[in-house]
Amino acid sequence: MSSPKDLENLQREIVSLAKRQGDLEEIVLEVMERRESAQERVSELTGRVSAVQAKADDATARRDAAQGELDAEAASVTKERELIAGSVPDDLLKLYDRLREKQGGIGAARLHQRRCEGCRLELDVTEVNEIRASAPDKVVRCENCSRILVRTSESGL
Ligand SMILES: [Zn+2]
Repeated sequence: MSSPKDLENLQREIVSLAKRQGDLEEIVLEVMERRESAQERVSELTGRVSAVQAKADDATARRDAAQGELDAEAASVTKERELIAGSVPDDLLKLYDRLREKQGGIGAARLHQRRCEGCRLELDVTEVNEIRASAPDKVVRCENCSRILVRTSESGL
């Protein structure tokens, strides 16, 4: 039934199909390679996401722990302050609180080597002499910043 013409056509078609199969196999290989590299990229990125997440979790845990410590310390300091405030005369406590509010949270400062540790200024001779002459229980204040000066053995008086 096959004429030479048909046979020729059939052979041409076989050659063409074989070429087409070769082309398709190449495409399949290329797609598989791309798929493989995409999977590698996915697992690399997944690993990085996990590492970043672990760091974030760690930082959160450390922040929470620090917050807890700060809360405990604040509670302890507040309690301690209440105890001490209870032993300070009312008028002195009022003065201290007023100065503290006005002077950025520090109402009293140590007088160290003739220097007010509140404003960091050195007191002049007259001021030092006045303080030296005043009774130990008298409340003395810095002429510059008005803070209550706390005298110690290292005040330089
Ligand atoms: Zn001062």
